[in-house]
Order: sequence, then C-alpha cells, then structure tokens
Amino acid sequence: MTTDFIPFNRPYATGKELAYQTDALHSSHLSGDGTFTKRCHRWIEEHTGCSKALLTHSCTSALDMAALLLDIQSGDEVILPSYTFVSTANAFVLRGAVPVFVDIRQDTLNLDEKLIEDAITTRTRAIVPVHYAGVSCEMDSIAAIARRHGLRIVEDAAQGIMAGYKNRALGAIGDLGSFSFHETKNIISGEGGSLMVRDEELAKRAEIIREKGTDRGRFFRGEVDKYTWQDVGSSFLPSELIAAFLWSQLEEAQRITRERLEIWRRYHQMLEPLERRGLLRRPIVPVDCQHNGHIYYILLAPEIDRQQLLAGLKQAGIGAVFHYVPLHSSPAGLRYGRAHGELALTTALSQRLVRLPMWVGLNETQQQRVCEVLTALLEK
Ligand SMILES: *Cc1c(COP(=O)(O)O)cnc(C)c1O
Repeated sequence: MTTDFIPFNRPYATGKELAYQTDALHSSHLSGDGTFTKRCHRWIEEHTGCSKALLTHSCTSALDMAALLLDIQSGDEVILPSYTFVSTANAFVLRGAVPVFVDIRQDTLNLDEKLIEDAITTRTRAIVPVHYAGVSCEMDSIAAIARRHGLRIVEDAAQGIMAGYKNRALGAIGDLGSFSFHETKNIISGEGGSLMVRDEELAKRAEIIREKGTDRGRFFRGEVDKYTWQDVGSSFLPSELIAAFLWSQLEEAQRITRERLEIWRRYHQMLEPLERRGLLRRPIVPVDCQHNGHIYYILLAPEIDRQQLLAGLKQAGIGAVFHYVPLHSSPAGLRYGRAHGELALTTALSQRLVRLPMWVGLNETQQQRVCEVLTALLEK
C-alpha cells in the first residue's frame, strides 16, 4: 500500500490571487499604498476595531516599527515570554533594550500574567504578550498591570488574525499589535504583516515611520504641498502585488478560519482517548478566548521520547514538527536578554510539544491516519 506524504503545512490559495495581481499590474501602480493596500487596511480596521492598520513586509517589521514608535531606548526593559519566535525579542534588542523573559502558563503556554508584576523594574517600558496558537493571553489582567505601572502593550498577534478575547479582536487590544501573513499562518501573502495602532496620535507617527520618515502619505492626500523628512523611519510598506494577493485571502478569511476550526475540532475529538490514557495532553482554550485554529499541538507525556516519535511520524509520511527553542536558552537570548526566575514551565513544556499537520484541505481520512500512526507510536 502506498500512502501519500501528509505535509505539516500547505499554503492555501483562494484562486483569485493572480487575477488581483494582474489587476494591480494593469492599474500601473505597483509600489505600496495603492487600491489593494487601502482595501486591506480598511478590512483590518473594520475587523479588529483598531484606529489604523498599516501593511508591512512582515510581522517582524511591524514589531520593529512598534519599538521605534514607542521610542524604546538603550537600557530599557521589555517583558515577554521566552517561548516565542525570535522577532518578538529582536525588535526591542535592535533598539538596545533588554528582553526580560517571564514564564508561561501551563494551560495556554502564554505569558503568565501572575508573574509579570514581579518582573517590572524602573526600566520596564512595555509588555509584549504573544497569543500562541491564536489563543489569547489574559488581556484584562495584563492591561490592568500596564495601567498601574504606566507601561505600553505591544501584542504579538502574528498567529492571531480572526481570533478574539472576550469578543475583542486580537491585535487591537494593546496600544500596538501585529499580524503575520507569512505562508505558515492562517491568512497569507508569502511574506507579509501588518501593524495595528489604537491611538490616533501614534497612528500619525506610524504612517511617517513606515514611509522612510517622510510625510508622503499626507502629500498624496493633498494635505501638504511637498513631502519632507520628518522623523526616523525606514521602508516598511509592501508593494501592491503583495497587497493584491493578500486581499484575495482577506475576502475569504471567515471561510478559511471556519475550515481550520473544523480540522482543529476533529483532531480534538480523535485524540481524546489518548489524553484519557495519559499519553498526551490536548490544547486548552479558556472560555474567554475565541481561537482561530492556527495550530493543533499535543504535549507528550514527560516519559515519551519526542525525537523518536517525530522520526516515527516522518517515516510514516507525516510532517509533524516541534516548535520554539526557548529564547532564554539560545545564544542570542543569553547575550541580550535576562530570564526572570527559573522559567521551569517554558523549559518543560517546550520539550514535550509536537505540532500536527494543519492546513485548509486536510481531510478526515488524513487526520485519522495521523492519529492512528500517533497512537501506534505512543503505545510502543
Ligand atoms: C510568525 C511569527 C512571527 C514572525 O512573523 P513574520 O511575518 O514571519 O515576520 C513573530 N512572532 C510570532 C509569535 C510568530 O508566530
């Protein structure tokens, strides 16, 4: 019997990407901020409730913009989880700040809000919650801490599009938020991202920073008669070709999310017996969180050899993968950052985590095969 390889990820296309890119080509506007970019901006603003959305080259560059916007300086401290992607920390390290790593919660693997206050010093400037797997951090508690200490909140909502917390959209709850449209995320444009800004004053400055530090945006709207160098900045805006591709995906965002949630729920049901037998733990989604089916992960029982399990899955034609190597244990994390406390859960849980194949189009038969192979390997 031959069985097809089931990849971990398969980038989804709606089918309209190239048609919209052709439209952009015919419009003779290929650089940034044309019709498609404006449509994407309006969509994100309407769907998240932020006052301004700005497309960027990536979530990484949106986070870079956030650090510039908050005037993060050398010696400042920023609180974030160690269990995250490097860009969450890099954006602030580039400005000379020190990432202070706080441990995660057992249930969601998100920043443990109960440990944040103890990590705050006179140098702390911001808290950066990362919504892992599109499941929200405990944002009300984090917002209360930020208010008490005069700190800013930058949400790394790279995985959080179409997900919510108490029916507020992730990415638009903090002062600043960021989405990723990298091909591994739910809504994609190859590479891509967006910055969401809540405050109108910050939004004006964000527009300038994104346009090489100029007021070109105002000039194109006819608000000034020439554009000049106003502030620090760089080129953070993607071309219309990227925005055209992205637009075809945003139009279908609801359906894409619904399909991913269906796949997520199927895994959840299929794996319940393995959890009952103590062989793994399934993801936990608190009642206040409306997630988006971004990742289906399992936490293996501590005695199970993950390397061996991943090798077994691969041999059976299944593309399962682990995830982050905690930043506080990585070479640059040790050099630039500081761990607050032991980070025992970060270390323990990250070593037990396996992500299963998850993409629009993955069918029930394929999921059954994943779960059967997994069961056989766990029983060995
Ligand atoms: C994917 C991801 C990023 C980086 O996104 P890019 O668009 O590739 O720059 C940052 N943070 C988290 C949590 C991510 O998952």
